[in-house]
Amino acid sequence: MALPVEEWRRCAARCRAALGPALRERLEAAPPGEALRVACGLLRPGAEEAAALQRLCRRARTGKEPAAARWYREEGNRRFGGCCYGDAALLYSRAASHELPGSPEASLCFANRSAALFHLGHFEVCLEDIARAQSHGYPDRLLPKVLLRKAECLLCLGRVQDAADTLAAVENKIALDGIMTSPAHQTLLKKLNQLKLKVLERESCPEAARETCGDTQREPEIWEENDSISGASSSLSLKFNTEKGRHLVASRDILPGQNLLKEEAFVSVLCPEEGESCLLQDSGEMVWDTRFTNADLYCHRCLKQLLASVPCRGCSYAKYCSQNCADTAWEQYHRTECSLGALLLTLGVFCHVALRTVLLAGFSEVSRLVEQSHDDDEDLHNTKARCKHPSEAPDTRTGTRGIPGCNDNGQYQSSYRAVFNLLPHAEKHSPEHKFLCMLSVVAICRKLQEAGLEAAVLNQESSEKGSGTKACEKTSDELSPELQIMAEAMLRHVLQLQCNAQAITVMRELGSGDGAVVNKKPVRLATAFFPVLSLLNHSCSPNISVSFSGTAATVRASQPISSGQEIFHCYGPHRCRMKVAERQQLLSQYFFECHCQACLEELESGDKSVVSVRNSFCCPSCQASMQGEDVLCCSNEACARSVSRESLSRHLRDLQRQIKKALELLRDSRADEAIKMLLKCQMDARNFLSPEHLLMGEMEDHLAQVYATLGKWQEAARHLERSIQIVETHHGPSSVEMGHELFKLAQILFNGFAVSEALSTIQRAEKILTVHCGPQSTQIRELQEMKTCLLELPRSILQRT
Ligand SMILES: [Zn+2]
Ligand SMILES: [Zn+2]
Ligand SMILES: [Zn+2]
Ligand SMILES: [Zn+2]
Repeated sequence: MALPVEEWRRCAARCRAALGPALRERLEAAPPGEALRVACGLLRPGAEEAAALQRLCRRARTGKEPAAARWYREEGNRRFGGCCYGDAALLYSRAASHELPGSPEASLCFANRSAALFHLGHFEVCLEDIARAQSHGYPDRLLPKVLLRKAECLLCLGRVQDAADTLAAVENKIALDGIMTSPAHQTLLKKLNQLKLKVLERESCPEAARETCGDTQREPEIWEENDSISGASSSLSLKFNTEKGRHLVASRDILPGQNLLKEEAFVSVLCPEEGESCLLQDSGEMVWDTRFTNADLYCHRCLKQLLASVPCRGCSYAKYCSQNCADTAWEQYHRTECSLGALLLTLGVFCHVALRTVLLAGFSEVSRLVEQSHDDDEDLHNTKARCKHPSEAPDTRTGTRGIPGCNDNGQYQSSYRAVFNLLPHAEKHSPEHKFLCMLSVVAICRKLQEAGLEAAVLNQESSEKGSGTKACEKTSDELSPELQIMAEAMLRHVLQLQCNAQAITVMRELGSGDGAVVNKKPVRLATAFFPVLSLLNHSCSPNISVSFSGTAATVRASQPISSGQEIFHCYGPHRCRMKVAERQQLLSQYFFECHCQACLEELESGDKSVVSVRNSFCCPSCQASMQGEDVLCCSNEACARSVSRESLSRHLRDLQRQIKKALELLRDSRADEAIKMLLKCQMDARNFLSPEHLLMGEMEDHLAQVYATLGKWQEAARHLERSIQIVETHHGPSSVEMGHELFKLAQILFNGFAVSEALSTIQRAEKILTVHCGPQSTQIRELQEMKTCLLELPRSILQRT
């Protein structure tokens, strides 16, 4: 999803092949600006490639379609009827995103959604949706029903007087409309009378005001900001040398859990996912589906979780948490991006991030840095012969001044300048890849020009010194000089992203969320530029943990770091999850060989990594460990059984299929059958997987989940404890993975009233998660709520356990 869709990649490769060797060489040697001009000619209207891209874009549906709106609303009604209110709310949101803003149809979607939200207990948001329905021209004759819901909501929120006022308004309305005798009308009157009674009850015996939850006395964390690196702690300093490039080092001893960096993404783009509903459906064939994706669940701009989304006025794919987010996004970038949705989905997230980066930076800043880079290139050309390491000077002589990306005062800030100075590694990308990126960027700029959006692009900094009059009479084969500059910057950003893209991940709840135990899994939410976070080098055994809240990243030390040590981030390949060979393979996309401690040790000892030892097969006859490559032999000499790796792998795949089936049973509420099947899988697995195999842990985890859905807390806890043991062997006792598992166990023990065990588990989980996610994270808050609740339990219950 980071790169363009496969068909477009193939198309670009064919286009490049057809150029012939001479032109290809010229293109590779040319400076980016000139190469882009050539690419622009290749993608002229009427060219085969342009037509192919247009066809591909037609498969992505990002516009508003009335038929889709109808379909989603009906589907929502169906789910609502089945009491699946969460799903119903999401489907009404989808329906709303396909309706024209301000239309009565849109108001129906909001009204329906308010009913679902009411059932989910989201009263405040329900009120917002009712107001939204009213402002979108909700049909007058249907109003009493919605107003009754409003009154009920207000009652639930303890706003008795407001509820009474609303009921009075309903009564007036009904009186004005005259007497009707339809059954629906009768129900309405009955409901009205019920609510009036409730209001009277509440007025005569006012109970204590609703508990205001949320303790406001939470201490802010101690934080001393760095003088020269924005968002970083004063315990860090920025260094530079030719071997490591820019990097951060501890300038004093650091404790685990200490906050090292808080950074707001310079730019972030919500990622579509595999099977995104609006993506890649063959045209003609109408297939709407009800799988929910990132676009349904998180705000297009700030990544906040959505309850009652505000749809974009122009497209069906951008949904926002609030009108404010919708307006800001529109102002900053979406008025340019809105009609480009299909193209951006086809070209992949990296291109989208590149476009949004230049839109956020504004034309004048972009052109300033692009021109500066041209000057620098020239300077470099002239001085190369004289000075071998021109870049080494800054570190020794002038502190941080002169380190790329720093301003004249030696400050490194999360700015466009810092983004621009991230390394694009232009010389290391393959010519094919560069060509693909060039063609894709040109496609975006051409589309902007065609759609008349150029002014919007250049207007981003409207009041700044005007970007000049349209100086150049452009032919249809050329980009305007301004777009040419934007294209050059975008190309640089797409290339930078290969090494500098930071995934924003969240723990997302799996399944319906109705269960008492929430099963969460980390999912990739967005791709972003974090220029300060990007200063950190990679290690397969990092000493920090990164967590995200919305579009902000927080970095904490995950272990003690002594003064002088470098701070390491893991770009993905972690020593606990992959063997050294796999890691090096993955890291090659960042153009370096990892020499971290973990890699050196594993390579030197020539030994199996911890991962491969733990995730190994065992002998089907005697359960001793198996050794070898293509043919594995039992390590027990007396046994001497040998089996081909191929057949063991096949067995493993079968097992994974069976487990998947068991989970499907669980989803169909056939828990007993799921348990039977999982137990059978476990028996089978013991015959050929090492007891520490991750899959063994996963099965225990699934069993715990099934028992939890049945309310059999003791069994659930027993299985989860076994899973935790395996997670501990793989990831270590203080890993974030351990923290998440202990969190789950705490929930199970809590639900089963195992008070003392729950309390001690909460304590363990709290200790670990505070280090990784900080004392103010949602998880810590939830743990503390559980603790308070347990401690407040009446003595009688405590004694029973
Ligand atoms: Zn938002
Ligand atoms: Zn839009
Ligand atoms: Zn490594
Ligand atoms: Zn054996």
